[in-house]
Amino acid sequence: MSPELDAKLRADYPLIFTVDPVGDPYDLDMPPVPSAFATWGFECGDGWYDLLNALCLNLQHATKRGASQVVAIQVKEKFGGLCFYANGPDADQAGMIELAETMSKQLCEVCGNRGKTIRNGGIKTRCLEHEND
Ligand SMILES: [Zn+2]
Repeated sequence: MSPELDAKLRADYPLIFTVDPVGDPYDLDMPPVPSAFATWGFECGDGWYDLLNALCLNLQHATKRGASQVVAIQVKEKFGGLCFYANGPDADQAGMIELAETMSKQLCEVCGNRGKTIRNGGIKTRCLEHEND
């Protein structure tokens, strides 16, 4: 992801995209450690910026209404789709994440236009214009 869009997501959603060490919610005895997100940042293209922005807007709105704070552990492309691994989502927030992950398989990872999942030296989601990117 471009440095500009990366910085905008981090600035708009600092509680989701923290680089602070995070604990394991399933093992409270484990000390907090830096997440994959803290180490690698956004491991996907600019085409999914709007999708991530809409997802995080809704996750944070849910938190304002009383849901827990979601913290991103890893955000990456895998097999042509967005993978948004996070600590803390409740059932509604998990549904939001699932919807975004599903939608990503129909949006070009390069530009965000309608795309499809193709095999091209790997599995990617691309529009016709970016098939070879
Ligand atoms: Zn495209």
